[in-house]
Amino acid sequence: MRPPTRKDPCRPHRRALRLALFIAAAVPMTGCGVEDPAPLAGANVLLITVDTLGAKHLGAWGAPDGPSPRIDRLAAEGVRFETSRSTAPWTQPSVASIFTSRMPSRHGVTNLLDSLPGREQTLAEHLTAAGYSSHAVISHFLIGSEFGFDAGFDGGFDASSVAGHDGITSKNVTDRAIEVLEAKGDAPLFLFVHYFDPHFLYQHHEAYDRTSSYAGNLTPGMPMWQLRDIRSRLTRPDLAYLIGLYHEEIAYTDHEIGRLLDRLDELGLAETTLVVLTADHGEEFMEHGWLGHTKNLFDDLVHVPLIVRYPGRISPAVVQRPVSSLDITPTILELVLGHRIAQDPTRPFEGLSLRRTLLAGEEPPARPIYAEVSFDAPTGDAERVAEKRAFLSCVVRGNHKLIHDRERDTFALYRLDRDPAEQRDIWPKHPAVAEELEALLRAFEATHTPDPDSHGNGASEEELERLRALGYLR
Ligand SMILES: [Zn+2]
Repeated sequence: MRPPTRKDPCRPHRRALRLALFIAAAVPMTGCGVEDPAPLAGANVLLITVDTLGAKHLGAWGAPDGPSPRIDRLAAEGVRFETSRSTAPWTQPSVASIFTSRMPSRHGVTNLLDSLPGREQTLAEHLTAAGYSSHAVISHFLIGSEFGFDAGFDGGFDASSVAGHDGITSKNVTDRAIEVLEAKGDAPLFLFVHYFDPHFLYQHHEAYDRTSSYAGNLTPGMPMWQLRDIRSRLTRPDLAYLIGLYHEEIAYTDHEIGRLLDRLDELGLAETTLVVLTADHGEEFMEHGWLGHTKNLFDDLVHVPLIVRYPGRISPAVVQRPVSSLDITPTILELVLGHRIAQDPTRPFEGLSLRRTLLAGEEPPARPIYAEVSFDAPTGDAERVAEKRAFLSCVVRGNHKLIHDRERDTFALYRLDRDPAEQRDIWPKHPAVAEELEALLRAFEATHTPDPDSHGNGASEEELERLRALGYLR
């Protein structure tokens, strides 16, 4: 974090924010837009992200026979945002956006092995500066300390659950997170927990069996590159099998999230803890000719769950109007620190605070919601690198979504209320809408340009080997 300058009195340097935490609830402040008392002053914050958890796969989002009873229950106990979108279709840029409220091209984490720059202020840095004890328990090496994601987690950054794509880690994640809850001291706690298991490779979980009746040739734990090689020959039962395995992974992770929430309750912390659950992105199962993630901006990938619970103060509700993962950090900070942070012009947040939506039931403001991807495998044979390449941006406004392939300069327009699966490109038929959205997207792109050097080119052999082991490279 850069030191504050005299010309920048609103910069959240540690002493000022620590002071603010303890007086904001009682003493109105003036100037710098920090006059509001904190509605949930001193509340603990539990931020759970589940890797690769598309909203459409959850019962709370309407999936028949959904695999996530505990997440669904959490959704019923809190505010469920029907349409929240991640800023990117893969882990690193998306989690960095959750942490910073900045689009990937702004925070700079746009490609494999990019690091979160020290200039970016993260949610953990803000909360730690305000007196929180900030801890993380992660299970994905791409959001590890090697890439700067530990910034601000002064209380502890537990990466002991990180494993390869074939690992099963949610139990360990919950065990480590429970240790943090049990060791909580007097300071308010910020705990970030990242579960990984729904991410490929898709493993079988006997206790949540949805696949034992399958009679085809696929097996649990097949490498993603192998599945992609045969993707055009996958039958309907094959795809149902892969989705079944994926749902088993969600069910297993859901059980472990339930165990964490139960312990929060047993420790008497549920009433004083703001719980936020979301995902970094979803997953594709050939809805648009591809498997996995990173390559597209369809809602299979960018429509993610978002749930916020705080018993007694936040009434259960469902919010229909679209929001963004960019909103998570300003919302949490406004709820627990009381600053009008989203309105503070000295802050670089691109998201909005949803505080009034959560506390007063107001609709979030209508606005365009964006996502972007600039993904390139750092090495490999040319054909496979080209196959995985993605340089896209999209905007959602009202019922319309426009996706721009920036490499080919082509557009596709979808009407989401009539065609939520984005199967019918109506771009040629609706030139007026297409033109308006194209103007919006061009303006967005003019101010959101990924660093062209950000392509993991500086990766060491050790890092490349790790990516191979994880299944990102062959
Ligand atoms: Zn991910």
